[in-house]
Amino acid sequence: MNRMLTEGTGSVESITNWISQYDQHADHHLSLLEAAEAALNTGRAGSPDARQLAGRIERWRYQLLQHEGEEGSWQTETLVDRLDRLANRLAGRPDRLPRSIGQAIQDSRFDTDSIREALELVDPHVPLSELTDRAFELTRRHFRSPTESRSAALSRWRMVVYAPLYVSNQCINYCTYCGFRYPLEIARRHLSCDQALDQARCLRDRGFRHLLVVGGDFPHRTTTGYYAEILRAMVAEGLVPAVEIAPQSTESYAELVQAGACGVTLYQETYDPIRYREYHLRGPKASYAWRLEALDRAAEAGMARLGLGVLIGLADPYHDIPIMMRHAAYLMNRFPDRTFAFSLPRIHAAPDGFQVPFPIDDQQLIRWYCALRIAFPRAPLVLSTREGAELRNRLAHLCITQMSAGSSTAPGGYEDDAADTGEQFPVTDQRTAAEVARWLERSGFQVCWSWDD
Ligand code: SF4
Repeated sequence: MNRMLTEGTGSVESITNWISQYDQHADHHLSLLEAAEAALNTGRAGSPDARQLAGRIERWRYQLLQHEGEEGSWQTETLVDRLDRLANRLAGRPDRLPRSIGQAIQDSRFDTDSIREALELVDPHVPLSELTDRAFELTRRHFRSPTESRSAALSRWRMVVYAPLYVSNQCINYCTYCGFRYPLEIARRHLSCDQALDQARCLRDRGFRHLLVVGGDFPHRTTTGYYAEILRAMVAEGLVPAVEIAPQSTESYAELVQAGACGVTLYQETYDPIRYREYHLRGPKASYAWRLEALDRAAEAGMARLGLGVLIGLADPYHDIPIMMRHAAYLMNRFPDRTFAFSLPRIHAAPDGFQVPFPIDDQQLIRWYCALRIAFPRAPLVLSTREGAELRNRLAHLCITQMSAGSSTAPGGYEDDAADTGEQFPVTDQRTAAEVARWLERSGFQVCWSWDD
């Protein structure tokens, strides 16, 4: 029975016994495995019913991951890996090693030499100038094209300028630090595809081509189909959209890629699972494992660009950022043909008196951005308008290669009369896109409105 369970280590009996003994839904899950085996044996991998089966097996796997460590030791791990490969085969995707981000982030062998160098330099005893000099030199080396270096006017590098486009602030999650969380009484707005497109056109008129579509997590409204429709409409207008939305299944990410998403940004918020649980009390986001593997799923679905980040202020950056670096190194090993970008959004204001437990000052933020440049010399580093103009200008001169400008964090916020719509977080750099672009050009940067400019 269940030939797919015999692959790798662990006997089939021990695993099926384990399911019978510990799984409250053993009959259901064993019959799911039988159905999966039947689908593979009859050559139906990749068919709609096999893909649906793959989705059910994925959900079962995440239930196991959620309770990992409770009981069953190696049988749980073995089963989790087997289910991963089984779902992958059923869905008709190319064979691959099981996802292993849970182990990878605890494994120092993923630290590359450049990550080690960055972590040595980020020590508070090392003068800041050592990091800034090194970061500046690496950014210049890797982000200036030969043509640009011949131009006396261009003393810096290419800077991609983008805007976030918030399409919905409806959200069922309860993230203690977020102004969008349920059930805070803010003006809720969910844009239709036409309304989102009006916003996109408004941004295009201001010069933008690359837009980041952002939305809360409200499963009945912010569906994959909803985002796919918006993405298709944007692409038809000549825009280059990416998404920053709730984690999706591999199947759903594939739909977004098909619709024209050129990238996904997904911050883990914190890599400390205990703190993660404390901050994410209810809703789908409470699942640490589902979020942690999201970039694996996006990459498997073909997403070209993956954006990582942690929310600065939630946990000790000396814990979180090195683990994020390891996460990126793990993904780079698995998907060497993708682009990996990083951002360090910092909490400046939070609802209901949420006290930021690990605030860091501007100098420390500079230190960490420079450390990211040293760890990943060719990676786009992204900076939002959460930070003020002065700090953004300083960071732009050191290592940033992509920055938002003229942003609104409220759905419909680019309309003239948008004052009463709820914002996720306050925008600190209030300069318009044109003002930011002028400053960049005067400072010797080549302003690009999309990656392919
Ligand atoms: S952080 Fe995201 S998921 Fe959490 S409440 Fe805010 S919008 Fe929703």
